Amino acid sequence: MNRYEFISTNPNDTFEFSNRLAKHLCPGDVIALEGDLGAGKTTFTKGLAHGLEIKRNVNSPTFTIIKEYQGRLPLYHMDVYRVEDSFEDLGFDEYFEGDGVTVVEWAHLIEGQLPSELLTIYIYLGENGSRQFVLEPKGKRYEELCKEIIL
Ligand code: ADP
Ligand code: MG
Repeated sequence: MNRYEFISTNPNDTFEFSNRLAKHLCPGDVIALEGDLGAGKTTFTKGLAHGLEIKRNVNSPTFTIIKEYQGRLPLYHMDVYRVEDSFEDLGFDEYFEGDGVTVVEWAHLIEGQLPSELLTIYIYLGENGSRQFVLEPKGKRYEELCKEIIL
């Protein structure tokens, strides 16, 4: 499996990266985000939402596990941190197979319910506010997507 890397030096860099990525997204695309608290998963999602032409402010769906936004494509923003049983079925499939783009923060917590093809992005904290983004595409569609966005 190929891996692609992007280094962000500040929050705006992260925003611009996901903003750019969003322009290449298609209905049914699924992005899994992994990284510690404060890594930048939600910051990334905000940039993505901007790139999808979503006007509403996107914030962490703390109490609601899934939030839906309308833009060029719908965005289904999930934060599954509080899902207690990894097999609890909250109808995730309908989102993954829907007409929008799904972003899942803490995706490994529902690993068994994720689609077989998706783009996983690991975010690692570096020094002085830098972040290392490691993209791991599963499936041809996401392999192509990575090639389009990583220079
Ligand atoms: P998570 O959703 O992973 O818990 P957030 O996006 O909510 O993380 O928070 C990330 C925090 O880290 C924000 O306060 C953001 O301003 C800060 N930050 C500092 N440097 C970066 C960077 N390079 N990319 C993203 N966020 C950064
Ligand atoms: Mg978050």
